[in-house]
Amino acid sequence: MQGARGSIQLLATGGTISAGPDGPLRAKNMIKMARRLPEGIPVRGEDFATIHSSSISVEQIEALAARVRTALDDESCLGAVITHGTDTMEETAVALECMLHPQKPVVLTGAMVPTKDRGADGPDNVADAIAYVCDGSIGKLGVVIAMHQRLHAALEVSKGHTISTDSFTSGDAGPVGWVTPESVEIVRTPTRVPLMSAKLDETVALVRLTAGDRGRLIELAVEDGARGVVVECMGFGNVPGPVTEVCRRAAEAGVVVLTTTRVPAGPMGIWPTAIEAGMIPAAIGPRRLSGLAARMLLMAALGAGMDAEGISDLLNGTSPGKIRPMEGV
Ligand code: ASP
Repeated sequence: MQGARGSIQLLATGGTISAGPDGPLRAKNMIKMARRLPEGIPVRGEDFATIHSSSISVEQIEALAARVRTALDDESCLGAVITHGTDTMEETAVALECMLHPQKPVVLTGAMVPTKDRGADGPDNVADAIAYVCDGSIGKLGVVIAMHQRLHAALEVSKGHTISTDSFTSGDAGPVGWVTPESVEIVRTPTRVPLMSAKLDETVALVRLTAGDRGRLIELAVEDGARGVVVECMGFGNVPGPVTEVCRRAAEAGVVVLTTTRVPAGPMGIWPTAIEAGMIPAAIGPRRLSGLAARMLLMAALGAGMDAEGISDLLNGTSPGKIRPMEGV
């Protein structure tokens, strides 16, 4: 897209990347510090917020989605770069993906090392994110995260390290692409769902099962008004019997119950008893979502007014594979 007419919108939201020597850096500083910039394509900066992403609210995520939507609707906008704290970057990425389903590049980036410190990774990451938007070979990847020269798709990415600059991972599948100073390489098509929601349902809870679990946290979430619960079950997809019964009662009461596994890598299956209890695998084809991704997807799906059947179709409707029942144990 070098030489294309148009501009890139950069929205700054805060995070470690904005930690400058004399206080918070602004959007214009993000652009100025980028290790390299494209020729002939202006990057327009806008200060959206100055927050640690650990403090981001659901309202702020919704407002960010609305702002990105407006930016992309402008024909001259080639795509959007969002600088963001890394703590919740993967959740904002899923929200933007499930609220916008963008056909133009939308990329989040940030930094693990404050920009004021030696070894700061922000200047390279911003340059990579801008290069990604500029590259003419980009297909329909949806929202991505650009960190440490890698591109990760929104529904696949997790923060995997608390301090390393190589912190983000797409697990077994690996990143969808790489950015080098010379080129952007896309190696595969990522997982996406056809969802475009204007709202997020804030009541959705995420519960991780633990040894001896009897499902009390799920009951409490439902008693507190949760319209959806994501259950991180054990191993390949195991749910203790009492928890299955709690989930059955929740589903019968109209709560949408998604299930994934608490194990960071590998596939998952689901027991026939769990399916029969109304639990819906948070998996798209053979790829299961992380608990955090499943929660945000469920917030968007409920925000769009979908019910359990619609959400099950949304997930399995995109599925080239089958959820494997695990029997005989
Ligand atoms: N506390 C920071 C945040 O806003 C961490 C970071 O940006 O890396 O998420």
